[in-house]
Amino acid sequence: MLHFYNTFTGKKEKFIPIRKGRVKMYTCGPTVYDYAHLGNFRAYIFEDILRRFLKYQGYEVTQVMNITDIDDKTIAGAGREGVGLAEFTKRYTTAFFEDLKSLNIEPAEFYPLATKHIEQMVELIKKLLDKGYAYRKDGSIYFRIRDFKNYGRLSKMNLDMVRPGSRIDHDEYGKGDVKDFVLWKARKTTDEPFWDTELGPGRPGWHIECSAMSIKYLGQPFDIHTGGEDNIFPHHENEIAQSEAALGKKFVNYWLHCKFLLVNNEKMAKSKGNFFTLRNLLDKGYKPGAIRWLLLSTHYRATLNFTFKGLKSAEETVQRLNDFLSRVKQCRPDARKKENRVLSRKIMNSGKKFEKALSDDLNISKGLAHIFELVRSVNIALEKDRFNRSNLVQVLSLFEKFDLILGIFEQKPVKLTAQIRGLIKKRQQARRQKDFILADRIRKELFVKGLILEDTKDGVRCRYQSGREIK
Ligand code: AMP
Ligand code: ZN
Repeated sequence: MLHFYNTFTGKKEKFIPIRKGRVKMYTCGPTVYDYAHLGNFRAYIFEDILRRFLKYQGYEVTQVMNITDIDDKTIAGAGREGVGLAEFTKRYTTAFFEDLKSLNIEPAEFYPLATKHIEQMVELIKKLLDKGYAYRKDGSIYFRIRDFKNYGRLSKMNLDMVRPGSRIDHDEYGKGDVKDFVLWKARKTTDEPFWDTELGPGRPGWHIECSAMSIKYLGQPFDIHTGGEDNIFPHHENEIAQSEAALGKKFVNYWLHCKFLLVNNEKMAKSKGNFFTLRNLLDKGYKPGAIRWLLLSTHYRATLNFTFKGLKSAEETVQRLNDFLSRVKQCRPDARKKENRVLSRKIMNSGKKFEKALSDDLNISKGLAHIFELVRSVNIALEKDRFNRSNLVQVLSLFEKFDLILGIFEQKPVKLTAQIRGLIKKRQQARRQKDFILADRIRKELFVKGLILEDTKDGVRCRYQSGREIK
């Protein structure tokens, strides 16, 4: 049975989906005004682990991640560069999808763009006007939070701090800034993008887009809504207020939020200038698998401090695990050797323990500890030559299962190109002729291409540094 910590109730709860065997989940996506940074990817990786684990447990998952392609920041960015909003946001949307692929984050089923769902937002705002939760002021439309009696339940915000009628129309505001929030922003300047709708000329506020798009693709209520902890207030609080006030029923059953990725104990954020984009780190030569590992290996409800030391150690761990798998794959136990039954039991139990750990609010740290324990046992069995063909199949199939969640071993085997095969041959020839300078030069050349050569007594062994398999 799965249990998740629900921010709404402040408790770990049994997970019961609305429809048996199915999970509908919504994930707040990026505002596409720049490249996403590692803090953002902490949230997306947590959501990826959640999604993968739900699928692993047999659920059919429908995930929606919005793309915010209209807000104060995207408009300002396009204006600064003197390009159209669509051209500007397309660039960062494309980059975002490339980054997701690099980090092996499974695609969601839907990536709706805010600008393509204005109609749904207008409909929702009209309902709020009809029911008296929204009011007009100077051409804009606001949500009156005092009228929604459950306002503040998710964030445990104290409503006494709000002065009646105080309004805010920025998309972002600080903690404790409890004010009526904007649903529809009146067109102010002539060069700002706007939509001529029944509500008057203007554009939507940020919060309404997530309500409109989640309801369109998932219905209401749906099972799980996720985000980083900064989304709790005001964004998710406002989503609940709008959706429940408009439709008169519960919006979401489980709210899951990941804690921040920090740098020197401060939130990694664009506004603080303390961020690294994924691209910054790939340019520095770090591998996507190591970055993925760094972000997934700390439980999502514990803060994670980013350091280069931590990243280096993640890289070493991924390398060690890849080396371990290559070692297992390459061992050729004698067909007559008997099965190591103690080890077989350990392999089976590790799988169960891993699942049990993740079922408990995605306790990945505990889950990984079981994997490392198994690696130790298998290494000992290999050293002592107590490892047979059945054991080999058991280990490989279990690691294949682990990787359905971890996603770090998934690269498909590649064929070495004729050029690389030629270089390896040339190097062997050079070694035979004792031309060690040439042999070493070729070895270095191959290293730049990510390949490592090891000279064993059975000949040369070639492997990819990233752990990528060779056909
Ligand atoms: P944004 O583009 O700022 O709306 O953020 C996109 C996602 O990244 C949201 O789910 C945020 O909660 C999340 N996020 C932003 N910064 C961090 C951080 N430092 N650590 C964890 N999640 C973050
Ligand atoms: Zn959102």
